[in-house]
Amino acid sequence: MEVKEEKAGLRVPFIAGNWKMNKTIAEAKKLAAEITKSAFNLEGAEIVLCPPFTALYEVAKTIEGSSIQLGAQDIFWENGGAFTGEISGSLLRDVGCQYVIVGHSERRQIIGENDWIINRKVKAALRNQLLPILCLGETLEERQKGLTLTRIKAQLDEALKDVNQDDVSKIIIAYEPVWAIGTGVNATPAQAQEAHHYIRMLLAEKYGQELAACAIILYGGSVKPENASSLAKEADVDGFLVGGASLDHVSFVKIIEKMIEVKGK
Ligand code: PEP
Repeated sequence: MEVKEEKAGLRVPFIAGNWKMNKTIAEAKKLAAEITKSAFNLEGAEIVLCPPFTALYEVAKTIEGSSIQLGAQDIFWENGGAFTGEISGSLLRDVGCQYVIVGHSERRQIIGENDWIINRKVKAALRNQLLPILCLGETLEERQKGLTLTRIKAQLDEALKDVNQDDVSKIIIAYEPVWAIGTGVNATPAQAQEAHHYIRMLLAEKYGQELAACAIILYGGSVKPENASSLAKEADVDGFLVGGASLDHVSFVKIIEKMIEVKGK
């Protein structure tokens, strides 16, 4: 199934920085302030910072009054109660988050999160008016076995199980091939486009043309200022989820600039 492209223009370029388990509170405040200052004049992109939990409050205060939004790196699926060490959606809203990353490959691979957990986290985010940035992508072994698209479909189906169409339309999808995350080896623009186009087609088949054409699909995996333009030029790449390069304001803002240059209005 092909997706009608007239709605592509409605997709606002979207760049999120995943700081992972980096930055003390003081360092996070400094980085957020530098990004806010350098991105002050940039229009036409949604920018989201995802610091560690410990820095969310101070980063929220630092970006207040700017158009930059706050995201968390994880969420627990219950609303509250005896769940030592976990953070609920309502607590994330309380600290100022609008977004939350769900299903990052580091949580799948290292912590052992499965599709069932990820589905519950997607639903918990939506229930708490948080917009999920849902990560999915194949391992190197799966790619080498020709299972890339099969894996993407399985992850998408499972993550969106019993999520209604209206809620699916709020989800940002991040295609992040595991072999490209933190390795310095990015997917080629053609590999990214193939996966993104496939995801959009799956959304069209299940939720309709309109939703698919408006869906924001990010690429993540060793995005740097040097490769941002060529990836952004692909029709179905609407933005980036950036790890390593988001820890430095110069490289992160350069990536945002490249995205706007290619896809901005
Ligand atoms: C990520 O953590 O989501 C990521 C894409 O990391 P990096 O940009 O460092 O590959």
